[in-house]
Amino acid sequence: MTTAPLPPGATIGILGGGQLGRMLSQAASRLGFNVVILDPEENSPAGRVSQGQIVAPYDDPNALNVLGRVAEVVTFEFENVPAESVRRLVEGGARVAPGAMALSTAQDRVEEKQFLNGVGATTVDFVPVDTLDDLIAGLDRLGVPALLKTRRDGYDGKGQVWVKSVRAAEEAWKTIGERPAILEARADFIRELSVICARGRDGSLAVYPLGENIHKGGVLKTTLAPAVVDAATQKRARAIAGAILTGLDYVGVMGVELFDLGRGDLRVNEIAPRVHNTGHWTQDGCVCDQFEQHIRAIAGWPLGPTRAHARIEMTNLLGHEVEQWAGLAARADARLHLYGKAEARPGRKMGHVNRVKPLA
Ligand code: AMP
Repeated sequence: MTTAPLPPGATIGILGGGQLGRMLSQAASRLGFNVVILDPEENSPAGRVSQGQIVAPYDDPNALNVLGRVAEVVTFEFENVPAESVRRLVEGGARVAPGAMALSTAQDRVEEKQFLNGVGATTVDFVPVDTLDDLIAGLDRLGVPALLKTRRDGYDGKGQVWVKSVRAAEEAWKTIGERPAILEARADFIRELSVICARGRDGSLAVYPLGENIHKGGVLKTTLAPAVVDAATQKRARAIAGAILTGLDYVGVMGVELFDLGRGDLRVNEIAPRVHNTGHWTQDGCVCDQFEQHIRAIAGWPLGPTRAHARIEMTNLLGHEVEQWAGLAARADARLHLYGKAEARPGRKMGHVNRVKPLA
């Protein structure tokens, strides 16, 4: 397979037509690429800004064959892409980035934590849970409260429940649907940070300054970036990012969520093998944002600079909050990013606003 950089005019395929796919598509378009989206929904946010849209389930063999034929490289905007779809694309001769190893590692919380600890990117203590007895033994080992999460398919705080006592174990086990799970020790963090990082086809690394994240009800509300951190913390985050991306032979942008325990002691919460909501600040805070960076990486281009030229407060516009758009548009310091979604269901990510301040 050729390793020459993909020239402008080539076509990039994206699995998933949400806002991340939309912003990836816009970045790709700016670099002269064509984009084809595969998404089961007609008129997806990404499909509407792209040159082509295939409307089909993610595991539809015909749709995957068509996408693999038209696209020189295929990427994805969410981590729950069926592994079988990636296998089919690769067997059909398509280049897929990031690869199957990153996807399968991020899809299973136990495998993810085993991998992370194996490369020195320390996590909280954890116990795999397949039965109620495992859960009770895990609570005994890790202490309470501990957090029970489904091994697969969890996001934005879904599929997880705090277990406050051994007596509450059975109810917690039922709450998550008696599915394969992981029990995690509680991270005693001062704050939540994340690092957006990228690896090129040639193994080069690019790491953005850290962001500090504030969640509400398990959903990201605000990112402040660059986060004010000491040199030890920034250095540790860079080392963690490098170990993970190199360990996975990764190509593309990744979001790494971190618990800051203080004094440079960071624990990895989870990795997202894709562009990440906590990296949206880079659109208005960096010369090369995470979306362009991802396109550069998967196209085999040199990675772009990651230095911040502004301080950004990124706030998600959830559900009806998007109706504030006119007021926000009138603010001199606000850059508005709207996703073109018609229906503002409660909690749905409708857009975000980056408030731009000078670097201190
Ligand atoms: P996750 O779905 O794993 O990203 O978790 C969602 C949120 O739950 C995180 O952003 C944290 O605020 C919290 N959380 C997750 N795991 C832990 C943990 N082991 N200890 C304390 N808080 C956690």
